Amino acid sequence: MRGAVRLLSVVWLAASMGMCQTVSTTTPVGPPNCLVADGSRAATLTPAKRPTAEQIQATAEAAAADPTVLVAAEPIGNFGVERYRLADYAECVGGGGCYWADLDAQTRRAEAVLDRVIALKKAGEKLAVVLDIDETSMSGFCEIRREDYGFLIEPMNRWLMTPEAAVPIPGTVHLFNKARSAGLEVFFITGRWDELREATAKNLELSGFKGWKGLALRVGPQKQMATVEYKGQERQKIVDAGYRIVLNMGDQWSDLNGVAKGETSVKLPNPFYYLP
Ligand SMILES: [Mg+2]
Repeated sequence: MRGAVRLLSVVWLAASMGMCQTVSTTTPVGPPNCLVADGSRAATLTPAKRPTAEQIQATAEAAAADPTVLVAAEPIGNFGVERYRLADYAECVGGGGCYWADLDAQTRRAEAVLDRVIALKKAGEKLAVVLDIDETSMSGFCEIRREDYGFLIEPMNRWLMTPEAAVPIPGTVHLFNKARSAGLEVFFITGRWDELREATAKNLELSGFKGWKGLALRVGPQKQMATVEYKGQERQKIVDAGYRIVLNMGDQWSDLNGVAKGETSVKLPNPFYYLP
């Protein structure tokens, strides 16, 4: 029952805050301007003029109603159509919502939690905020879109090495700066491999994250560990160093579950990929 009430409250929140760019914000929320090096844009499979998801649905319904047409069983959504829907959501066009508004709404909820923590903070308390990086602190949207909304690990890792990948998520930068100003320490824990450490640190700096306490990337045997296990292990080190993890924010459940959980965990939306 409690779960159902929570779910309803999330749906209400999405309807009232996240799904509409005109509500409760004075700053327009939308996709970032992507820096793309000359010649690096992939040929797109998506035609410039393509039907909307609604038009595709209407075509299917008309065919189903026509007795001269044999309609196939198609129990799951067509991937190409879902990709159109994803593109619209990620680029904030059409009536299917706006990812960036939903993301911003959720970082503002996290900031409200942080405000309460700061108000109650006692002198000398060691308080920590833990942040994931991809789709939490910086966005891979520009590369994901370049790949036509695929999520291809090799080109993604090449892109992450470049300054083009310094794409901040504004609400998280704001939260980070508020935490630092109040004397909380911020630790990044990412599933990226340690080979990306230098580029990651540089791009965090370029994105406006300055003065963090820790940056954990997978090293050695951690590369083979389940994310939930690896991230828990890294959080435990923070707890063992005497900190209370007052807030943990990530876009995957595997960022949030496991040992040494945050006192509050904030799940950000990610329509692009799922990491178990
Ligand atoms: Mg992530």
